[in-house]
Amino acid sequence: MTNIDSSRPVLVTGATGYVASWLIKRLLDEGLTVHAAVRDPKKTNKIAHLNTMAEQSKGNIVYFKSDLLVKGSYGKAMEGCELVFHTASPFISKIKDPQKDLIDPAVGGTENILDSASQTASVKRIVLTSSCAAVYNDAIDCLHAPNGTLTEAVWNNGSSLDYQPYSFSKTLAEKKAWTICENQEQWDLVVINPSLVLGPWMNPKVTTSESFAILKQLGDGTMKMGAPKLGLGMVDVRDVAEAHYQAAFNPSAKGRYITSGHNTNFLEMSKILLPKFGKDYPLPSKPLPKWLLMLVGPFTNKLFTRRFIRNNVNIEWKADNSKIKNDLGIAFRPMQETMEDAFQILVDEKVL
Ligand code: NAP
Repeated sequence: MTNIDSSRPVLVTGATGYVASWLIKRLLDEGLTVHAAVRDPKKTNKIAHLNTMAEQSKGNIVYFKSDLLVKGSYGKAMEGCELVFHTASPFISKIKDPQKDLIDPAVGGTENILDSASQTASVKRIVLTSSCAAVYNDAIDCLHAPNGTLTEAVWNNGSSLDYQPYSFSKTLAEKKAWTICENQEQWDLVVINPSLVLGPWMNPKVTTSESFAILKQLGDGTMKMGAPKLGLGMVDVRDVAEAHYQAAFNPSAKGRYITSGHNTNFLEMSKILLPKFGKDYPLPSKPLPKWLLMLVGPFTNKLFTRRFIRNNVNIEWKADNSKIKNDLGIAFRPMQETMEDAFQILVDEKVL
């Protein structure tokens, strides 16, 4: 049981991020003082939305310059904090060198932050943003899971530097966190494992999250011929923020939490947008046949290798989200609300 004193500051790493922004809003609205760790506090366009949120809330925000790759650079930001939210990690698909661009910041950064936590006597709990990518590698893994359903007991053991390197980075980073946690007794670790996060952006002009790029592809005509029935999980960013908040302040929160509102697929996500946006935007409404994807996929998108298509397209994705509902009282928004609110941002920002 870990009780957090909410009069103490709380650290959020990767504060400029899509997920972190909603978490920070939740914390500020609660009146907390947020120590926001960012790579470059001088990039005012990246933190403008956080400043606005702080002005409109009961809480306070203080910025610290920190980098996952710079050892000890989170120490100052952690001073006096009982709680650390570690959300920072690259979620990008355009990479040159998976080791340098993904693994080093994800794994080295986690080690860097947890080591600093062990050197900061005030820290009692760390909430780590992992991913369902650390639970499974391909949708086909669901078929091999007990009862055909992913649970917190399942680990991704199929990714590598060459295949799904982002998933590899999240798996290695979470494993590193559990290993470090087991070797000390000062703080406990609670892990949030979201599936694909969607929903409104607070900083759509500067976001780097791959979530934005994925949604944009549905509306910009890239998929007007059809969308693959690619099995995946989806969750609203506001529910992910709430999950982090509850994981932090519920004294009995423990272990990993699959944070996924809906078992779905890419085509279904697109079709749910058709009634509201289908008239004005070239949203895919038909499935793209697997054979056609096998033929052209590898030439159109580096991620769409034949192996990836074989193991993910037309395969049902299924995860059990009962642990987070029961332990932390999380209720997930309907998929329609999430998709429509997210797509509306693309419309409002004229990015399509
Ligand atoms: P995001 O908006 O791109 O946020 C990533 C954050 O990490 C940014 O604040 C970025 O800072 C920071 N970061 C990256 N490299 C860094 C470095 N070397 N040093 C310090 N900070 C660094 O992406 P997001 O979607 O919110 O993702 C947040 C977390 O959720 C990640 O851990 C991601 O793996 C996890 N997650 C996301 C999804 C999803 O669908 N979005 C699903 C499951 C899990 P800068 O602004 O300086 O670049």
